[in-house]
Amino acid sequence: MTDRTAPQLPAATILGYPRIGPLRELKRVVEAFWAGHSELDDLEAQAAEQRRSQRTRLVDLGLAPDDASIPSDFSYYDQVLDAAVTLGAVPPRFAHLLDEDGALDLPGYFTLARGEGDVAPLEMTKWFDTNYHYLVPEIGPRTEFRLADDRVLRLFLEGATEGVTTRPVVVGPVTFLLLSKAVGEQHGEGAAPATAPPAGFTPLDRLEDLLPVYVELLRSLGRAGAPWVQLDEPALAVDWDVPRERVLAAAERAYAVLATETTRPERPALFVPVPYGSAEDALPVLARAGVEAVGLDLVRGAAPSPEVLAQLGDAVVVAGAVDGRNVWRTDLDAALARLQELEAGLPDGAARDGRLCVTTSTSLQHVPYDVGAERALDPQLRSWLAFADQKVEEVLALATALTGGPGAASEAFRTAADRRRSRFEHPGVRREDVRRRVAAIGEEDVTRADFAERAAAQAEVLDLPPLPTTTIGSFPQTSEIRSARARHRAGDLSEEEYTAAMRAEIERVVRLQEELGLDVLVHGEPERNDMVQYFAEQLEGFAATEHGWVQSYGTRCTRPSILWGDVARPAPITVEWTRYAASLTDKPVKGMLTGPVTILAWSFVRDDQPPADTAAQVALALREEVADLEAAGIGIIQVDEPALRELLPLRAEHRPAYLDWSVRAFRIATAVAGLRTQVHTHLCYSEFGDVIDAIDALDADVTSIEAARSRMEVLPELHAAGFARGVGPGVYDIHSPRVPSEDEVAELVGLAAESVHPRLLWVNPDCGLKTRRYEEVEPALRRLVAAAGRVRARL
Ligand code: GLN
Ligand code: ZN
Repeated sequence: MTDRTAPQLPAATILGYPRIGPLRELKRVVEAFWAGHSELDDLEAQAAEQRRSQRTRLVDLGLAPDDASIPSDFSYYDQVLDAAVTLGAVPPRFAHLLDEDGALDLPGYFTLARGEGDVAPLEMTKWFDTNYHYLVPEIGPRTEFRLADDRVLRLFLEGATEGVTTRPVVVGPVTFLLLSKAVGEQHGEGAAPATAPPAGFTPLDRLEDLLPVYVELLRSLGRAGAPWVQLDEPALAVDWDVPRERVLAAAERAYAVLATETTRPERPALFVPVPYGSAEDALPVLARAGVEAVGLDLVRGAAPSPEVLAQLGDAVVVAGAVDGRNVWRTDLDAALARLQELEAGLPDGAARDGRLCVTTSTSLQHVPYDVGAERALDPQLRSWLAFADQKVEEVLALATALTGGPGAASEAFRTAADRRRSRFEHPGVRREDVRRRVAAIGEEDVTRADFAERAAAQAEVLDLPPLPTTTIGSFPQTSEIRSARARHRAGDLSEEEYTAAMRAEIERVVRLQEELGLDVLVHGEPERNDMVQYFAEQLEGFAATEHGWVQSYGTRCTRPSILWGDVARPAPITVEWTRYAASLTDKPVKGMLTGPVTILAWSFVRDDQPPADTAAQVALALREEVADLEAAGIGIIQVDEPALRELLPLRAEHRPAYLDWSVRAFRIATAVAGLRTQVHTHLCYSEFGDVIDAIDALDADVTSIEAARSRMEVLPELHAAGFARGVGPGVYDIHSPRVPSEDEVAELVGLAAESVHPRLLWVNPDCGLKTRRYEEVEPALRRLVAAAGRVRARL
């Protein structure tokens, strides 16, 4: 079935490249455009310039300009949004943004991402188990698909005009539908998001209607002379609610249609990678359907067995041997060995004959651009790292070695081995003191007294009213706070001045909370730039970068810390700030820590030991902090784990082991707390289905969760699962600037009181307040306190 005349795929390629710009140029121009400081023409010109310099850069690094080894995967905001717009899947509430040809201009595109007035944007959610967020397409039984946009073609033509034959990258049809949200009837303009879908409907039901649009897209690329197209199908590496057989059947059907409705060269050759995990069972399905190349993630997934390889027919195997998710130099020897093992299962000379190619495990969108830019980083640490550009070189070195070319590759291999050696010989990477302490943690260290016994003891010391009110920790980060932090960092504000400024802010926040009548106060977290980075900066074993930005969503970027060595806490981190806040008031003040799993999830983590071991070290450092807070008289300590669910493995078989170590890490951190100390945790989401047992196993006394938007939907579910601990379902949606009325909040509190025993129910916002403004927060909290009082009076 495979077309023998398919052009050869290059021996080395990458699945994607960062697109925010090495100095976050795209972020700046897009935000300037949003703010009305620049014209559309400027924005487009600068984006085109960035794409041009990116193509040049990749050619300079060694990717060939003429063989489709350079992906064209630019996006102004998000690749899933681009797919939705390309396929015409624009929800009717945005219909007014379409021109008479049904096309969306760039401002309209941004409106889908950001909303406008009463028109809610598309929802946003995590892209697989990464910290990147995509916009969720809304697909209903009547969504009309059509090729509504030519951005994919334009990107290809732009490269071609400049002599670079790129490989267009598009989210594949099965992944597109699996990532979409099912909706029902959708009403036009301004209306709230669509109604619920009909029972049993899933977007995958619409596959047949979607495929012709992909066929048309492929034709347009074929006509333009694109030799290859990359249709990403990461969803095939995930266990969905939809049965696996159905997912695989959809993949087979989809690619059979795409491969045969048009034939080469009327369409480009199809390269379908399945990044982010293993999907051994999907590869033969894709090959059988007739795609010219399949891609697999050799970093997260196992190498397919010889039996599977034997089923791949003529399909080219593109092996993701260089980690697209992490920043460590690849162990080239080990990666080459895996590739050779893979090659052994393929016909003789597979690599030389172009049947086996080398790539990255995922797009490089999850890593920063260039280690060379990190001038301030310790040179030794820097020498261990590979960002996107270095990873391109690694892919090239592996391809050269695999195809038998000597020379350049052996040099790269030698350097890689040297650097790895230096890394593992560094005394900070393996600290016996840390390891001894972790090894000494026994079952009794992670076990607290019975919940009932704790609850009784805490009720006595804390003496809180029923339905106690509190917040999740942060208060608005005002420009004064940011500027004080920046001046302190730049050395323009002395340590004393900085401390005084933060203390003044803490005092203000404490007074405000007293005045509002909240029951459990917080210090407001003014000193924290970021809930993970703040801790990383004060723990040994972590380093921060200067330019290591990665896209989180849209123009939002984060700069993950690098967890490179064994972790230890040289000194208390939060104790002084918390103690100071507590000294200002008679009300209880809640201490605030970021949990071990979240610290791991939002950092680049060492790859030389299982994450479970790293998590235990971080947890131990936090355990010391909990003990110190308790000793300082802090009676309530919250350990946030908003990323607990984010790291949940994509395949069900790996989930129990993950939940085991992540729960244990939380308990290492918190179980040191005495009977009377109340441990809280905060989880940023409201979908628990698969993790309720794990949340229960965290053994926290109180768990706050997001619940306002979903109107407490999660509570009956928690109740049914027998969850009988303190719970604080959010009653104020902090993701929106809207200030809810007292009635609205009271209604939500009332709803919550229907499924949670009043002794266990807390009243709090959905999440921290740092992104909100005081104009919103003050009235909202005032109403929250009043609403709690109203419901309390009815008890
Ligand atoms: N304590 C943190 C805050 O309030 C929690 C943030 C989060 O859950 N993402 O900001
Ligand atoms: Zn949160």
